Amino acid sequence: MSGQLKADELRGRVVGAANALFTAGVMSHSGHGNLSARIDAQRFLLTTTGVVRDLRFDQLATVTVEGAVEDGDLAPENAEIVAMHSVVYRARSDVAAIIHTHSPAVTAFALAHQPLPCRAEPLLRFGQAEPVPVAPWGPRGSQVSVRGIAALLAETPTTSAVLLANHGLLCFGEDPLSTARLVVAMEEAARPSWRPVPSVAQWTSRAMPCGKYVSRWGGSDPGRDPRTRELRPGRGRASRVGRGRGCCRPRRR
Ligand SMILES: [Zn+2]
Repeated sequence: MSGQLKADELRGRVVGAANALFTAGVMSHSGHGNLSARIDAQRFLLTTTGVVRDLRFDQLATVTVEGAVEDGDLAPENAEIVAMHSVVYRARSDVAAIIHTHSPAVTAFALAHQPLPCRAEPLLRFGQAEPVPVAPWGPRGSQVSVRGIAALLAETPTTSAVLLANHGLLCFGEDPLSTARLVVAMEEAARPSWRPVPSVAQWTSRAMPCGKYVSRWGGSDPGRDPRTRELRPGRGRASRVGRGRGCCRPRRR
């Protein structure tokens, strides 16, 4: 269907879907998210910035389902998420739009590694008639993250969304606006029960192995010498992890 649309019309649909998410109040405070829409069997449009508030027509790049950027300038943080979108387009020929957000109530389930149950009618109405499963955590765009999403799509071929553990949600549908409506339905379904679900005990037991990735993302990590990358005693995130007081180790209760 998307292949028949003129480029400007498809861009307009993506912008309209982004605006609908903010109008519905389902975005996190940062406004972070990314949206994509299939152009044809081999290509899709992808937002170029990490924040999609007041998204413009020119903030969309053309990317192939193999991950190559045909035109447009992706910000570094968005180059990381190409594979998160392309893996869904390759696995599901029926999918024509994908939205990723950190919608707070749904993300609470993702932080707790709990599937979002299908208890609210809007979920049925907008295409999710089964619990939303949780893909295991991996740094975004990494092979471990993408493999986890692919495995979940194979296990649950009729799901219209997956939760990304310790991260957020990934929704997909037949066009950008209906996919945005599913994001809204998921947030509405999650909100009544999100407070009791992610207890502190659940968070601490499902924390990420942060220490393993400090050097990957920790260019400003004060716990390491910037030249040798060696740990500096008594300072910064890495040294806190080293002492067993970081987010990677549950505290004794
Ligand atoms: Zn994200």
